[in-house]
Amino acid sequence: MSRKKLLAANWKMYKTPQQAEAFVGGFLPLVHGHTRDEIVICPPYVSIPALTELLCDTNVGLGGQNMYWEKEGAYTGEVSAAMLLSVGCTHVILGHSERRQYFGETDETVNRRLQAALAAGLTSIVCIGEVLEEREAGITNDVLRRQCENALRGISGEHVAKFTIAYEPVWAIGTGKTATPEIAVDAHRVIRKQAAVALGDDAAQKLRILYGGSIKPENAKALMSQEEIDGGLVGGASLDPKSFAAIVKW
Ligand code: PEP
Repeated sequence: MSRKKLLAANWKMYKTPQQAEAFVGGFLPLVHGHTRDEIVICPPYVSIPALTELLCDTNVGLGGQNMYWEKEGAYTGEVSAAMLLSVGCTHVILGHSERRQYFGETDETVNRRLQAALAAGLTSIVCIGEVLEEREAGITNDVLRRQCENALRGISGEHVAKFTIAYEPVWAIGTGKTATPEIAVDAHRVIRKQAAVALGDDAAQKLRILYGGSIKPENAKALMSQEEIDGGLVGGASLDPKSFAAIVKW
């Protein structure tokens, strides 16, 4: 089964609107005509509108880094799916480990966000992954199964084209320690098997599972050439146009 790979940039809390525009000015010519993989940039909220026009009708999509599940209301600091759509977003990252670690995100709230994103028509990148202590304790697969089961609770296989799961081992995020292709592939197989329980076998075969954690131009090819790895979520190395373009073109 061939699945088109998705390379998504997670800019975290980096880049003002002006810096985002400068990035895109440098990046678009480097990936012009690249259709082998899907490309998405997820800037901080305030920098999204600066890119709406610049990325419109290009081969690079736009995404949010989070969203709340309610449509509107007294939820200070939050944005809704409709708000992301209104500024040209097609994608949204959900349940990133930094959201789980610092902002109280749980498996249950990730599931609520996924349900709302699907209802609104945004494509979600749902992040799961074990922390170092869990890997060292030998419970990585249990953690991945639990996170996957909870994230996909109540989600039907017919929506499989509208979300991906990003396997992001927390010990590899921003640390320079990349999972080996073997570690990533093993984890992806566990996730796909668990996804089949929720979505059915056919949909699970169509599900794109991304890897994230210290992807760099130097290791992108070894990871992305694995059939089981359907793309990457890239943090630090996506902040520079040349480096992210090199990853996209692995
Ligand atoms: C991320 O933020 O999702 C990520 C994988 O970061 P980094 O590439 O910097 O490890």
